[in-house]
This record gives sequence, C-alpha cells and structure tokens, in this order.
Amino acid sequence: MKSRTLEAAWEPALVSRPPSFIESIRATPKTNEAVLPYVWMVLGSFALAAIVTVHTLQTSYQPGTVILTTGAWTGLFGEQVGWPLPTRAVKGQLLLADCRVSPVRTPLHAGDALLVPWPDGRLLLGVTIEEAGFDTQVRLEGLRQILQRTTELVPAVADLPLHRAWAGLRPATPDELPYVGLVPSLKNLWVSAGHFRKGILLAPICARLLAQSLGDGTLVPELSPFNPGRQTAPAPVS
Ligand SMILES: Cc1cc2nc3c(=O)[nH]c(=O)nc-3n(C[C@H](O)[C@H](O)[C@H](O)COP(=O)(O)OP(=O)(O)OC[C@H]3O[C@@H](n4cnc5c(N)ncnc54)[C@H](O)[C@@H]3O)c2cc1C
Repeated sequence: MKSRTLEAAWEPALVSRPPSFIESIRATPKTNEAVLPYVWMVLGSFALAAIVTVHTLQTSYQPGTVILTTGAWTGLFGEQVGWPLPTRAVKGQLLLADCRVSPVRTPLHAGDALLVPWPDGRLLLGVTIEEAGFDTQVRLEGLRQILQRTTELVPAVADLPLHRAWAGLRPATPDELPYVGLVPSLKNLWVSAGHFRKGILLAPICARLLAQSLGDGTLVPELSPFNPGRQTAPAPVS
C-alpha cells in the first residue's frame, strides 16, 4: 500500500483536479501492477470461501488478498461473489473556462454551483448531479444548468472562452456511505468503494486505514461504520 497512488493523492494541487489526478497516475511508470491495475475484466472463482484466481484479459493471478476498488461497478462484483454491495453511478458534468485572470479568486460553492479557480488561471465550473446510469457523455442540458447557476453568481463567467467539458461517474451506495473493509462472505476479499462525492479527498485516509486493517488482520475501529456487511446486517434487538 506504500504506493505512488497514495503519494499522488496527497498532492494538494491535484486534489481538486480529477483529470490531472488521473493523468498523473497514468503517467506513473508501470513498475507495479498493484498500483496501475489496467485490468479490463476481473473474475473471481471460489474454493474454501476465498477468491482463488483473478483473471485479466492478459493473464491470471493467484492472489493472497484482493481489494475491490471498482467504484460504481462494485455492485457487479458483489453479485459475482454472492454478497450484495449495491452501488450506482451518479453522473457529474463539469466545464473548464480559459482565462488568464479568473473573475473568482477563491473557490465558491453555492448549492450545486461550483467555481474553482485553478493556479494556472483557468476556472472550473460545475456541477451536475444526475441519475443517468453509466452515461458519460457531455450533454448540453447539463452545461446549460452549470452556466445558468454560475453566471447567476458571477455574471462575468459568461464571457470566458470554453476550454473543455467532461462528465464523470460518482460511485454511490444506498446510504451514501462507502464500503471499506472485508467482504463478510469471503476470507480474502476486501473492498474500498462507494465514496460518492468525496472519493478523491478520502483516498489517502481510506488507503491508510485499509492498509492498517490488512496488516492487523482486522478492521480498525474507525472503519466500522463503513463495514461492507452493514447493508444486510440483522436489525438490532430493542
Ligand atoms: C464531476 C465530479 C466532480 C467530483 N469532484 C470531487 C471533488 O472535488 N472531491 C472529491 O473528493 N471527489 C470528487 N468527485 C468524486 C470522485 O471522483 C469519486 O468519489 C472517486 O473518483 C471514486 O474513486 P474510485 O477509485 O472509488 O472509483 P472510480 O474513480 O470510478 O474508479 C473505479 C475504476 O474501476 C475500474 N473498473 C471497474 N470495473 C473494472 C473491472 N472489471 N476491471 C478493471 N477495472 C475496473 C473503472 O474503470 C474505474 O477506472 C467528483 C466526481 C465527479 C463525477
């Protein structure tokens, strides 16, 4: 877990810049597949209530421990391993305006209107929260909403040139809390997923606490509210 991924997540300049964050991870030398899992397909097979084989398109592994970090896709793995980990994708659109001097000097957040000046002068504008499944296309209605909300706050935004627009998927769980811990039905399957709107900011602390739990062989108390077994835990006796 002493990974480059963790170091990148601690870089303050990247925390509010998801595309740069992802690009910097992709640019990391491919020295360790656990850090750069370019895996298109992962299938678990079972013996003795454990994952015994992980398959990718290129190769297979016999893992000691498997950690699912598959965001909104985690529910599919839950179905595969027989333990419900319900997750859904919540789409978010953003756009980036070019400007040498941003009309906003500090990050502003009012309702769903978000304006974040970047150190290079560009201005990030957001954001939509859409139940649109796994759709990652930028749609004009989303951009219209962003522009309406942000120009109401800062009219000068309307004059800025558009640099680019994109959409991403937030991994949400039914109670909007992530799953972090051991999947109850299996000995060696851990999960860290479903961080919804805070997955970038929470990455370092989740990685640290999960690494500690793996080292100790038991979940650290700080993670107990995020136990992946909570969705199906029996109701407390009153
Ligand atoms: C518009 C927008 C703005 C946001 N702003 C912020 C913010 O300011 N701060 C913040 O903290 N968070 C923010 N978030 C939320 C943050 O992006 C997410 O919480 C975070 O990306 C979740 O990270 P993750 O690694 O768990 O999931 P993901 O980033 O979704 O990564 C999961 C990965 O698993 C891969 N995968 C799935 N299935 C397989 C498979 N079978 N084999 C191999 N790989 C697989 C997927 O391809 C994907 O790359 C924002 C999200 C959006 C959409």
